[in-house]
Amino acid sequence: MKVYPNIFSNNPLDRVSYLRSDPEWVNNIMLDDKSIFVPFFKGQPFVSKISGLTSKNALENQLNPAWFPYKFFEKNIVDSSIIIFLGLLYDRAYFAIDLSKINNPEDQVNIKNMGSFEDLMGLSSQPIESGELAMLGQAKAIFEWHKSHEFCSRCGEKSNMVEAGYKRICGSCKSEHFPRTDPVVIMLATYNNHAFLGRQKRFPTGMYSALAGFVEPGESIEEAVARELNEEAGIIINNATYHSSQPWAFPNSLMIGCIAESASEEFKLDEIEIDEGRWFTRDELKNAINGSESSKFFVPPKMAIAHHLIKAFVDNK
Ligand SMILES: [Zn+2]
Repeated sequence: MKVYPNIFSNNPLDRVSYLRSDPEWVNNIMLDDKSIFVPFFKGQPFVSKISGLTSKNALENQLNPAWFPYKFFEKNIVDSSIIIFLGLLYDRAYFAIDLSKINNPEDQVNIKNMGSFEDLMGLSSQPIESGELAMLGQAKAIFEWHKSHEFCSRCGEKSNMVEAGYKRICGSCKSEHFPRTDPVVIMLATYNNHAFLGRQKRFPTGMYSALAGFVEPGESIEEAVARELNEEAGIIINNATYHSSQPWAFPNSLMIGCIAESASEEFKLDEIEIDEGRWFTRDELKNAINGSESSKFFVPPKMAIAHHLIKAFVDNK
């Protein structure tokens, strides 16, 4: 299998969508002795430093999602919790369980000394196996969707989760609702030996990154890239090509990375959106991407797709 550089990619699970729509199959596999569940609490997965069940080459101090069998949760926990099916790996089924409606879940489920609930974005820069990180991203994105879609967007009545987490049906008007993924374009504009980076006011001092924005309804990816670069930096492009993408469960985005060829070196910043921005030479970016001390600025870390777009430009790929 091809390995993608973007964090939260490389999910090893087979989602078997043709099986998870059968409630009887889901119920049976949930109770199977081999099936395992990772707890979530308020958007944070439970992780431990014990070797993970899917990691064959555990690193020292490696963090892993803490997987538990169903029996840990069955007493008075299951009714008030959302359980979603993640997928199959070999002959084992993986689930995630959201314990957000329980007070002190560590005490109630008796998992207190086995690990802790941790911020998923923070985990992505820790030593954690990339496939397991992708599985946690999948779980978080689905939990976030359920949290914000408890009620039907057509009639306002309560909707119910079906198909192991991948659909909701309204109890009143019977409308069907499916998990959302919101596309975001993130793009590196290039001109000859230069690439354009900007910084927003909320960025840490000294950090510059690729520009980004949501794809709007009725817009292609290429059109969104052209519009965002024009709106934010006054850059007119000749062409945009796809580089790679990154699932981004904060809360429901898919980052679509592109390289855009600018028609000229002219630019004009939208001062509300962008605090500073300019063209950087390939050598300047090489220094920054390598974390050189001589660099006067820095770029996002490897967990961010922007890092890989900049690296692709530096490597001339
Ligand atoms: Zn409805």
